[in-house]
Amino acid sequence: MHEMSLVRSLLRQVSELLLEHNGDAVKTIHVEMGPLAGVERVLVELAFEQLIEDSLCRGAQLVIDEVPLSAICLECDVEFDIKLFRFVCRDCESQRIRVTGGDEFRLIDVDIEVTSGCEVRT
Ligand SMILES: [Zn+2]
Repeated sequence: MHEMSLVRSLLRQVSELLLEHNGDAVKTIHVEMGPLAGVERVLVELAFEQLIEDSLCRGAQLVIDEVPLSAICLECDVEFDIKLFRFVCRDCESQRIRVTGGDEFRLIDVDIEVTSGCEVRT
C-alpha cells in the first residue's frame, strides 16, 4: 500500500524534528493533500493509526487539509482551481495549462511539546 510508505516517511520526518528540537511529544502533524496526490485519505488515516504506535510521534493528531487542484493558464496567465478534472482554462478554454497545486501530499507544520512548556512550531 502506497499510503503506508508515505506515512512511514512522514513519521520519520516528524520524529527527526522532535529530536532536533529536544521535544517530549508531538501534538499535531499537519499535512496537505490534493486530488492528484495519488493517495486516499481514509488509507492515510488508517496507515497513520497503525504506524504511530511504534513511532516517537505516539499520541499525535493528524490534521489533513484537502486542497483544490489549481493551475495557471499559459495563454492568458489566469490562475484558477480545476473543477471536475476539467483541464482547460477558466477564461480562454485553452488546454495549455500548468498544474500549480493539489498534486502532492506534504507536511505543512508540526506542533511539538517541550518540557519547558513553550511550543516549537516548524
Ligand atoms: Zn487562459
